[in-house]
Amino acid sequence: MKNVKQGHIVPVVCLDAGHCAKQNRSGVVPEFYESEINWKLHNLLTEQLKKYGIQVVKTRADQNKDLELTARGKMARNCDLFLSMHVNAADNSLANYALGVHMVDDNCGLIDVQSKEIAKLLSDCVAQILGVKAEVWTRKSASDRDGNGYKDDYYGVLRGAHCVGTAGVIIEHGFYTNKAQAKFLLKDSNLAAIAEAEAKVIADWFEVEKTMQEDVVIGNPYKLELVSIRRGSRGAQVEALQALLIAKGYSCGSSGIDGSFGPQTEEALKAYQENHGLTADGFAGPQTMSSLLGYR
Ligand SMILES: [Zn+2]
Repeated sequence: MKNVKQGHIVPVVCLDAGHCAKQNRSGVVPEFYESEINWKLHNLLTEQLKKYGIQVVKTRADQNKDLELTARGKMARNCDLFLSMHVNAADNSLANYALGVHMVDDNCGLIDVQSKEIAKLLSDCVAQILGVKAEVWTRKSASDRDGNGYKDDYYGVLRGAHCVGTAGVIIEHGFYTNKAQAKFLLKDSNLAAIAEAEAKVIADWFEVEKTMQEDVVIGNPYKLELVSIRRGSRGAQVEALQALLIAKGYSCGSSGIDGSFGPQTEEALKAYQENHGLTADGFAGPQTMSSLLGYR
């Protein structure tokens, strides 16, 4: 195990659902509220982290209650990592990338190095699922970005985490001002894939292994049915298959989860089958589906 504080037997992660109640509605997909997606995602990630024996502390007990930003960051006291979950907004409706924001102190210490490392790993992982590029932004704690004379660079949650000595990252899961992106994030199976992949990245970073069976905790959020699909298939079941494959580290090509079973999805499926003692025929039947869902 690494990247944990002295005396910790298991890693402890503090998860923050960005915003509360019904905040940050998408102008292009009216049923989308950033706060609701952040809330769902942080709950899914909590369940996935538990499978690795990672302990989770949440900043909010109630989705409707707001808490001051720095106070939320400070709840990461004694935790090994603080993550604030968000979906980005931009004036440009085409903006579409995954982003990890982290903060460094002037005399960059261990938690700053850790923050940068995990910000990069997580933004890469989210970008892969969304089928977009990844960015990492480094913010200095002692700069005066808004020019008001105070050296208090923004992102209060990160400042809060930093001042209690915990590595912190804000993860922006694409943009809700981008129509395709907002629609993508409204699908539970896509959120499940993001949570599963993020948990794996975090567990690998702490060097811990899975301790529980797949799907014991969260059931089957992918809504994958035991139907057979193959190259040429299209639709929701293909999306679910791709979400599962990508979450398990098998890239389905640059278009990510697109619901179209093409050669790259077939290649990913064959690789998965080969690594799991299944016939590597690129045909997703009941045996392969059961394996992907962790039923056997
Ligand atoms: Zn946000």
